[in-house]
Amino acid sequence: MSGLGDGFSDLAEQLAARKQQHLYRSRLITETAQGADIRIGGQSYLNFCSNDYLGLANHPQVVASFQKAADHYGVGGGASHLVNGHSAVHHELEEALAEFTGRPRALLFSTGYMANLGIISALLGRGDAVFQDRLNHASLLDAGLLSGARFQRFKHADVSDLDKKLSASAARRKLVVTDGVFSMDGDLAPLPELVQVTQKHNGWLMVDDAHGFGCLGEQGQGCAEYFNLDQQQVPVLMGTLGKGFGTAGAFVAGSDTLIETLIQQARSYIYTTAMPPAVAAASLTSLQLVQSESWRREKLSALIAQFRRGAEQLGLELMASQTPIQPIMVGDSERAVQLSNALKAAGVLVTAIRPPTVPAGTARLRVTLSASHSEQQVGQLLDVLARVTGESK
Ligand SMILES: *Cc1c(COP(=O)(O)O)cnc(C)c1O
Repeated sequence: MSGLGDGFSDLAEQLAARKQQHLYRSRLITETAQGADIRIGGQSYLNFCSNDYLGLANHPQVVASFQKAADHYGVGGGASHLVNGHSAVHHELEEALAEFTGRPRALLFSTGYMANLGIISALLGRGDAVFQDRLNHASLLDAGLLSGARFQRFKHADVSDLDKKLSASAARRKLVVTDGVFSMDGDLAPLPELVQVTQKHNGWLMVDDAHGFGCLGEQGQGCAEYFNLDQQQVPVLMGTLGKGFGTAGAFVAGSDTLIETLIQQARSYIYTTAMPPAVAAASLTSLQLVQSESWRREKLSALIAQFRRGAEQLGLELMASQTPIQPIMVGDSERAVQLSNALKAAGVLVTAIRPPTVPAGTARLRVTLSASHSEQQVGQLLDVLARVTGESK
């Protein structure tokens, strides 16, 4: 076995065990832009696994804004935001995002992972407590551990379990954290009920709306718009730019005090180079498209309905999701990988999601839909699913 003799035999054994459990991950090498059709290893595939929900990642106007800003600002951010890396276009994007979310301020981070680490560890420390839905994104769970606060998970979307845990806590600050749209299940958090329970216990509510921004709500303002929740109700609203917006980076929106606290104390904000200004410029354009082209959300809804109807007719087990994340529950990791491989052999890319990303015994095919798909392409996905699930039963 390779690895023996380099001092890493222990690691090599661990890798071999992962392979045996069908949990080994390897990367595809994509040769084209994101879109409904992508090329991998010289082969074309129908792409049903990207998070480019609105089809903006390769939009000509977004690309043109990126190019124009690169001509002006160059490529590198050059320094952190607190030195001199905070450019006029970063600032303009922050102001636009504040307006879009209906919050007084917004603050950019280089990635969503870093935003979550920075926000939670700036707001909490020893003596505080963080309460997280057990299906929250890994970056939120990691952030809770990093903060040093007492860490508690509540049952998925279970408000009475949260209520009990909050009641039992004597912590100084209590932060309740949830995904707005759960990234591996596609369901929405019960936000109005979470708001109520959090307020009852004088806690703060933080929502990570990575998958809701751009997609949910009439204006695409995400789950806060969908449930009509203001800043008082969701004081810490986080979103990312790498999914529905089709660019890269993340932001948090909230009060002046919140944002100034993060500027002073969020270590993943302070100790890192600002995102390339051209990315901010591209994001400004995609924000305009999110707002002006509501047809993208309408088309997406129609494709989601088409997919769910078709998959139900095939007897596939779907989850309670009205979002572009439409997992097909499989259960067994090996079978999920087999199905994903069979789909790939038929020219359709759908990822198998396995533990530890999801709980043991809940491996699934994670289908994601995009406004860049056509009705006919969703039909093709359903035809291929019918064939591969029928063949291997
Ligand atoms: C993708 C994702 C993140 C991380 O965002 P990046 O910008 O990709 O680092 C955070 N939270 C959730 C819920 C996500 O789905």
